[in-house]
Amino acid sequence: MGVDQIAIEVEKIKESRLGQINFDELKFGRDFSDHMLISSYENGAWGNPKIIPFQNLPFSPAASVFHYGQAIFEGQKAHRSENGEVLLFRPDQNFERFNRSAKRMCMPQIPEQIYMEGIKALVDLDRDWIPTGDGKSLYIRPFMVADDGFLGVKASDSYKFMVITSPTSNYYSGAVSVRIETDYARACQGGIGAAKAAANYAASLLPAQEAKKAGYDQLIWTDAKDHEYIEESGTMNIMLRIGDTLITPSLETNTILPGITRKSILFLAKEWGYKLEERRIKVAELIDALKSNQLTEAFGMGTAATIAPISKIAYQGEDYELSDYNSWEFANKVKNYLEGLKRGTQADDFGWTVKL
Ligand SMILES: *Cc1c(COP(=O)(O)O)cnc(C)c1O
Repeated sequence: MGVDQIAIEVEKIKESRLGQINFDELKFGRDFSDHMLISSYENGAWGNPKIIPFQNLPFSPAASVFHYGQAIFEGQKAHRSENGEVLLFRPDQNFERFNRSAKRMCMPQIPEQIYMEGIKALVDLDRDWIPTGDGKSLYIRPFMVADDGFLGVKASDSYKFMVITSPTSNYYSGAVSVRIETDYARACQGGIGAAKAAANYAASLLPAQEAKKAGYDQLIWTDAKDHEYIEESGTMNIMLRIGDTLITPSLETNTILPGITRKSILFLAKEWGYKLEERRIKVAELIDALKSNQLTEAFGMGTAATIAPISKIAYQGEDYELSDYNSWEFANKVKNYLEGLKRGTQADDFGWTVKL
């Protein structure tokens, strides 16, 4: 990977907060480990990253992130294997996507050393925060925000790159009900849907809340122009299985976040010889498959839950039920494989895990 050693200054917390955490009742994103990583970009260069106690930070009230939303993030996980090793899953992919997001949002590229060595040093220092047990992991949240105290509309000159980590258990548990969204859109062609930008999430909150109010856990996003094609499921990529063919929306519209779970699942499906299509999928095709009982599996794909099976799909006031996901052949196989890899119980045939 060509990662050189960099000097990371470490300021340790005086007294660990580890004892205050109930590891039996972890909720996604609520508790944070003792330390965080921070690096500043000024005058065209990144400063050496520092590890400091997790803390609130001073920002100018005019900082451009608050006004014009230049903010991107990543989501990845560290797992503890059965023999105590710490494993990261394809962190190089997160690094590359982070810099693609940065480019789209007119933010500077982060050097590989700062991103990779910074995360490794932080996770290593807080390794006692990595929970053990099924579905448990340390969620890693790298992010970058624009820091200029200036209200003029332009790309900021200064930025902060930070990483915080959070012990967590799986984001979703069980199957989710979803409503096909035909009014709002998450992303449009030419927009920022393919970047992991904070603004995409801001745009999704109201539609998600309305779906919740109507009794559904999440929604299925459709294209912004005609709401004719399906794109993603909530904050995850979506996979359908119609008959025995796996189908997922293709990325060519640039409105879909290129998920690492999605990429890994597509790779495995090909490797295992499944029928697989990566193309645009009409809502009408999905509804036809539901009506004729041909939709044999449907699930979201993402780091938070790996796979989130869908139990119910609503469209134009009609609810369609899917079969019990426990009997879904592909979804369960690929979930077990990926979770086995992340926990070190599955042989790493493709060199996807990085040991700390
Ligand atoms: C992060 C994200 C995904 C999933 O990506 P992974 O790399 O698999 O975690 C899918 N859709 C959206 C909108 C996302 O932000």
